Amino acid sequence: TRNPVNVTVTGAAGQIGYSLLFRIAAGDLLGPDIPVKLRLLEIPQAVKAAEGVAMELDDCAFPLLAGIDIFDNPGDGFAGANVALLVGARPRTAGMERGDLLSANGGIFKPQGEAINAGAADDVRVLVVGNPANTNALIAASHAPDVPKSRFTAMTRLDHNRAVAQIAKKSGAPVTEIGNVTIWGNHSATQYPDLYNARISGKNAAEYINDQAWLENSFIPTVAKRGAAIIEARGSSSAASAASAALDHVFTWFHGTAEGDWTSMGIVSDGSYGVPEGLVSSFPVTTRDGNFEIVQGLEINEFSRARIDASVKELADERDAVRELGLI
Ligand code: NDP
Repeated sequence: TRNPVNVTVTGAAGQIGYSLLFRIAAGDLLGPDIPVKLRLLEIPQAVKAAEGVAMELDDCAFPLLAGIDIFDNPGDGFAGANVALLVGARPRTAGMERGDLLSANGGIFKPQGEAINAGAADDVRVLVVGNPANTNALIAASHAPDVPKSRFTAMTRLDHNRAVAQIAKKSGAPVTEIGNVTIWGNHSATQYPDLYNARISGKNAAEYINDQAWLENSFIPTVAKRGAAIIEARGSSSAASAASAALDHVFTWFHGTAEGDWTSMGIVSDGSYGVPEGLVSSFPVTTRDGNFEIVQGLEINEFSRARIDASVKELADERDAVRELGLI
């Protein structure tokens, strides 16, 4: 049998963690034949709650769960990590300025990047879920100089999945017929879900739906503001869907995109599509065996160009702000 894979999860006692951990232990992260050891990282005041979650994980007697350890410091939490899911973050609270948000998160993601650099496994792959995810990933990556930049990713898969679901609803086609969806830019309200390159049963989705008003006034804002709509309806933020998207992101990274299809991942830009090199921006990518490549040569019409540029501008502003704060 295979050696267990070490999976570090930060914010393990939180809402997303509560949906995520049980599915990791059930095999939904890496596949049904790969045992996992969970390394739960929490801030000291949440360790007790994490212990409670670990008790429940024990009580499931998951065949693939080879062990659970709980840590309150990144040095130990990331030691030997093959996969790191950075869920814990400092959320924006009322009245908080962007600078405060970025500096609070810098205080979390800088030491985590350093700990990954110092002690994670050579093959470590990192997914940042905690917001502002793109810039948090940028901070972590910039403090891990010995880890290839391509190992640091930010989650836009929930936005991607939301776009797939909206396209399926509008067209009446099942989600399995929706492909080639792209989220461009930042995981924020400026993100751009691209219908023009998407496909429904192999046909161009924008032409198939042929409803520009829906695209501009319904599709894009529904995808971009879905999180707020869920808070409004449910009274708390989306957690199970965020956890499910995190599993999809990592599973696809290792198991690959289907022939002819792609997925969306926040990755360190190589300058493709005019996104300045070094920004962590969402792109269309194909994946295979834990590696990815940006899909090249897609047509970007004027409408798309303006939306992508606006989101990338926001990313550049966030990068400049964390640079000024000395966080990168
Ligand atoms: P959640 O588990 O609900 O959320 C965690 C992070 O994920 C937040 O940054 C949140 O950003 C982000 N997120 C939430 N929903 C989505 C979504 N739909 N799509 C993408 N991202 C999303 O938060 P909790 O407060 O329940 O739990 C956080 C836990 O993290 C706590 O237990 C806390 O102790 C821990 N923590 C651990 C740290 C560490 O290990 N060093 C550091 C900081 C916190 P947002 O809600 O702003 O959108």
